Amino acid sequence: MASPDARSSRRPDRGGQDRGGQDRGRDTHRVRVNPIACEGIGMCAHLAPDVIVVDDWGYPMPATRDLDRREVRAVRSAIAACPRRALFLT
Ligand code: SF4
Repeated sequence: MASPDARSSRRPDRGGQDRGGQDRGRDTHRVRVNPIACEGIGMCAHLAPDVIVVDDWGYPMPATRDLDRREVRAVRSAIAACPRRALFLT
């Protein structure tokens, strides 16, 4: 499967965090996974397939680039669906 990093342009990271509802006015976001909390169920990769792919064990490998608006919407859905609250935006 193609790396999600190859699917969008790069923009500077402005820092901060968004756990699904905060900082909606910011225009750059990146997705992060807490590997301690994640159980590798893979729901996030189904809801945000352009941003998150899973490895051979089913654990998510999120894009390491800034996300566009469409991708941020998809990631917000994945954050809401994550049963372990292991996914967040920065
Ligand atoms: S939905 Fe949550 S628990 Fe499941 S693989 Fe994604 S980050 Fe991990």
